[in-house]
Amino acid sequence: MSNIAFIGLGNMGAPMAANLVKAGHTVTGFDLTDAGKEAGRAAGCAIAGDVVEAVADKDVIITMLPAGKHVLSVYEEIAGAVKSGSLMIDSSTIDVESARVAHEKALAMGAMSVDAPVSGGIMGAINGTLAFMAGGSDEALDAATPILEPMAGKIVRCGGAGAGQAAKVCNNMILAVTMIGTCEAFELGRRLGLTDQALFDVVSNASGQSWSTTTYCPVPGPVPTSPANNDYKPGFAVDLMLKDLKLSQEAAGQVEASTPLGAQATALYEAFSQAGHGGMDFSGIIKTLQEK
Ligand code: NAD
Repeated sequence: MSNIAFIGLGNMGAPMAANLVKAGHTVTGFDLTDAGKEAGRAAGCAIAGDVVEAVADKDVIITMLPAGKHVLSVYEEIAGAVKSGSLMIDSSTIDVESARVAHEKALAMGAMSVDAPVSGGIMGAINGTLAFMAGGSDEALDAATPILEPMAGKIVRCGGAGAGQAAKVCNNMILAVTMIGTCEAFELGRRLGLTDQALFDVVSNASGQSWSTTTYCPVPGPVPTSPANNDYKPGFAVDLMLKDLKLSQEAAGQVEASTPLGAQATALYEAFSQAGHGGMDFSGIIKTLQEK
């Protein structure tokens, strides 16, 4: 069992830390907010007075923070305090460029480094069923695997530094595009006189099939557990999808990749968020089509 520092005890971090404690690890947490500290205590973590104290003498340091700038500022702050030979895992969703800088900073501290963003949301964090997309050296990935396991349903090794973040933004760009396409098809189907169930029965067994239909159908009825049945309460909020889409477009710009549908999906989610729907589940974007 390891001595783990967990930095960032928000909606995702606190339940992830709880699963590490349940697995028998000793976890010391830190968050800037009182709410985060309280959630960490409830998860069974000791709470450090600051981030430097949290990481001192730890075998593993996990960060679960909002964005690249937070991760890099924490890595800057703890640079003198990290034990040589320790393992640093960043599970935040951040831009690929910052992820690569974080790897360099970790290596300069004498630590092993893994970027391991997740999908699966808050329920996945609570249930220990997150999908981790991991990037780093083979040695670092070998060391990270048993640490991630109590929080994971699946761990996919994606490649070297930044590969986990790259996989995450590519996956979520596909998700946004297929969701918008699925919403368009269901609204078109309704206007052509099809029932939602009839279209679902065809698409879920045909070449138009995707997760956006079979697991997360954007109309109520065919998939009783999808957020459409719960007035589009998240789920996966529009603003979180928009964050990931913006990361995909930033990454595309850096490598001059052409992503016209990704760009269009970003613009549509941006407009939907600005219309006041940032907290709605991302499948709720079907409402923009229904209103027309
Ligand atoms: P959150 O805002 O609930 O939690 C982030 C926490 O980090 C906050 O408690 C904040 O106080 C803390 N924090 C910020 N700066 C800090 C610092 N310098 N030191 C210590 N603590 C600091 O966000 P979340 O929903 O837990 O998401 C965390 C990450 O996971 C994000 O990158 C997000 O994109 C990603 N993610 C979220 C979901 C989801 O469904 N919520 C799903 C997949 C991935």
